[in-house]
Amino acid sequence: MLVISFRTGFSEINVGVLVNKEYLLVVEDSKMFLKVLSERIAKDTPFSILPAGSLQEAQEILQRYPASEIFCALLDLNLPDAGRGEVVDLVISHGVPAIIFTGDFEESLREDILNKGVIDYVLKESASSIDYVVELVMRLYRNQKIKVLVADDSTSARNVISKLLKRYMFHVVEASDGQEALNTLDNNPDIKLLIVDYNMPVMDGFQLTKKVRSKFDKSSKAIIGVSSYGNNLLSAKFIKNGANDFINKPFLNEEFFCRISQNLDTIEYVQALKNAAIRDFLTGLHNRRYLFDVGRQLHSSARRGQITLTIAILDLDFFKKVNDTYGHDAGDEVLKSISRLLAGFFRETDVVARTGGEEFVVLCVDLAADKVAELFDSLRQRIQQEEVVWKEGSLHITASIGVTVMLEETLDETMAQADRMLYCAKEGGRNQVVCRTKEQPNGNGRCPLDQE
Ligand code: GH3
Ligand code: MG
Ligand code: MG
Repeated sequence: MLVISFRTGFSEINVGVLVNKEYLLVVEDSKMFLKVLSERIAKDTPFSILPAGSLQEAQEILQRYPASEIFCALLDLNLPDAGRGEVVDLVISHGVPAIIFTGDFEESLREDILNKGVIDYVLKESASSIDYVVELVMRLYRNQKIKVLVADDSTSARNVISKLLKRYMFHVVEASDGQEALNTLDNNPDIKLLIVDYNMPVMDGFQLTKKVRSKFDKSSKAIIGVSSYGNNLLSAKFIKNGANDFINKPFLNEEFFCRISQNLDTIEYVQALKNAAIRDFLTGLHNRRYLFDVGRQLHSSARRGQITLTIAILDLDFFKKVNDTYGHDAGDEVLKSISRLLAGFFRETDVVARTGGEEFVVLCVDLAADKVAELFDSLRQRIQQEEVVWKEGSLHITASIGVTVMLEETLDETMAQADRMLYCAKEGGRNQVVCRTKEQPNGNGRCPLDQE
């Protein structure tokens, strides 16, 4: 059986998303269409494809692969050995989520199909339907990490919405009034989307929306108000109170899913823009601009004695040689690998930034003075031990580190001192840490700069 695999690199882009479901089952009898679709899925998603050309082949695959490994299935309803969508029942009976992607689709079948619990259906009309399907798969993939709060006092209404959301692979938490919703939000700060009913005891949907908005803006948490059909005033008021959108009950599943997806897409887009401004594209670490913004504030706090601040500049040794010997891709892999190591090595409250080609800066908050040398030397050793794997082999690299625990008048001057220590470390033979302290303001004292 053909398994098209293309996982290379993708897991890195989606740091933090756990993919234990690795496959997409594609049941499609047109070889041409399967080829085009497979290429797109390979390029734009982290999944490998299990292709099946008939009901029979789909059955064989489902016997060989546990449902837990299949993320979802894309299903053509018209197969040579099953012309009336029998494949939907087969796939769903195995517990695999299904998306219908088919050429013709009678309106009379729509209700039937959706009632079976499929996620969505897409008509194969043009090239843009392939875009839609790929985006849909990626939306579902991201949904796995998204927590949604459903606030509604009616248990049955809550159940309907929760069930739909779970079908779209969200994590769902529920609350039966506005106050409970606020408490739930306090305990689950990672909630990204709230579906809010208007009519609730204790605190209604408008008050809840207002309270949430007083703390979180529209690009950090989306709120979708639910109002009953025909009550346009309620919908307008939801928006005025700060909701991102509203939906009228009763709604079509498709509309519900579209509204939610669009609102989440917008939030993610804004987040990506914000991230792009403060993060380094290659490594995902913070960039120079963020380092100096936050660094200046930390420096002032440290000058006032509210915190202690340790600044380290780290530069990889003979990095140019890595590029020259193994190529630029290997060099990039080294940068990503060392960045991951750095990000995991320091505390959440520390700032780790890539400030130039193979230069990194770390701002450590409240690091005990007697631990500084030890900590950075253990980092140096970790880097030396790290096996950097890239597609053609593996290699080791070392780093030189300049550190200062003494605060100069400005952040720039303090950084310049750390840079002087880095220069000493390089001149001293590389793969070493040189630290400026009150007792040793010139580091190890062997810096050629001191002799000038
Ligand atoms: P030293 O031990 O003195 O620091 O030597 P070095 O070779 O590490 O330092 P040098 O400054 O001579 O070379 C740094 C190299 O880093 C040169 C540049 O092409 C490379 N570089 C800068 N940015 C990137 C990047 O994003 N990716 C890759 N692969 N290489 C980069
Ligand atoms: Mg270097
Ligand atoms: Mg350099």
